[in-house]
Amino acid sequence: MQNLPLAGYKPERTEIAVRDTNIGGRDIILMAGPCAVESGPQMHQAAAAVKQAGGTVLRGGVYKPRTSPYAFQGLGREGLTHLTAAAKEHDLLTVTEVIDPASLEEVLNHVDIIQIGARNMQNFQLLKLAGQSGKPVILKRGLSATIEEWLSAAEYILAEENPNVILCERGIRTFETSTRNTFDLSAIAVIRKMSHLPVIVDPSHAAGHREYVPALSKAAVAAGADWLLVEMHPHPKEAKSDGVQSLTPTELQQLAADLVTVAASVGRTMVGTGSGLDSLRSKIDSIDSGIIELLAERMHVVKLVAREKSPDRIRDHNREQEIIQRLGRIAAELQCPADLVREIYALIFDHAIKTQLQDKAHRLDSMAYGR
Ligand code: PEP
Ligand code: MN
Repeated sequence: MQNLPLAGYKPERTEIAVRDTNIGGRDIILMAGPCAVESGPQMHQAAAAVKQAGGTVLRGGVYKPRTSPYAFQGLGREGLTHLTAAAKEHDLLTVTEVIDPASLEEVLNHVDIIQIGARNMQNFQLLKLAGQSGKPVILKRGLSATIEEWLSAAEYILAEENPNVILCERGIRTFETSTRNTFDLSAIAVIRKMSHLPVIVDPSHAAGHREYVPALSKAAVAAGADWLLVEMHPHPKEAKSDGVQSLTPTELQQLAADLVTVAASVGRTMVGTGSGLDSLRSKIDSIDSGIIELLAERMHVVKLVAREKSPDRIRDHNREQEIIQRLGRIAAELQCPADLVREIYALIFDHAIKTQLQDKAHRLDSMAYGR
């Protein structure tokens, strides 16, 4: 990768500020919306659903690079008005795709992030202009691009002294036909090793079917993706493009709630609480389920530990102190009340000891009677 002085070599990871939102830090951010902007009401419903799910950015294509010239090409300037009005109403950031210099010029002062699609990944003139714009740019991986080609394309934007480049894995073309593209999960890990740039994923264009989108999204977050760009339509069956791969508003909300625990398991935070009591409660429900699953797993390990201990050394106060001190430090870092952690763990330790004693007694009893 000798030719990649900017994307390739920089010790610290780049964080990109879009208004007061940061990409590439601890927070995982959800961007969602329809493939294409179709009407004002559609975008208002979409924006409300994105907000409800805790999303931060509203997507919607107004210039659509379609495979067939007879397919819906997007609403252009009119679509841009619908996108920005809906985002404003729901206090969301905006992203839309540009396909040529004219569309870049058109959207530049109206959206927060511009997207260069897979089909234009090597449109070098467009990359240079996007670089000169200074705007945050989502650069999607080309349909059959290697990671090296993708990073070289990013370099065109960086070389214009625009550091705000976000790489987006959206699936690549392989021999597999059961999905629209093949989601390259390993690209996330490779990009994180080879580049300092944030890496996000678009599971929708990778999967091509809405039922696969949640699994790919969870895998992506677990693998280190910084953001998610998901297609969601208020009425997918009526969508003018990509309805089959678009989540419904309810599915998006469920996915966002499910991602809370996945993000936490890799030390990240799923940003956005969603608005409204229902959305907040669904987030709490998901966190609570995660807590109970982990507690059950802990109790299972506690029983295994009992089998390694001699009967007279079941309670180990030094070990309990060590755990409390270690968790106290983590709690302080995460701004979680340390006394809450101490109280919860006092109960957990008591239960663990009771379980271990019972398990020991039961096993000794079974041995004595040969059962
Ligand atoms: C899109 O995001 O609507 C799109 C066309 O994506 P891609 O460039 O990844 O095909
Ligand atoms: Mn699409």
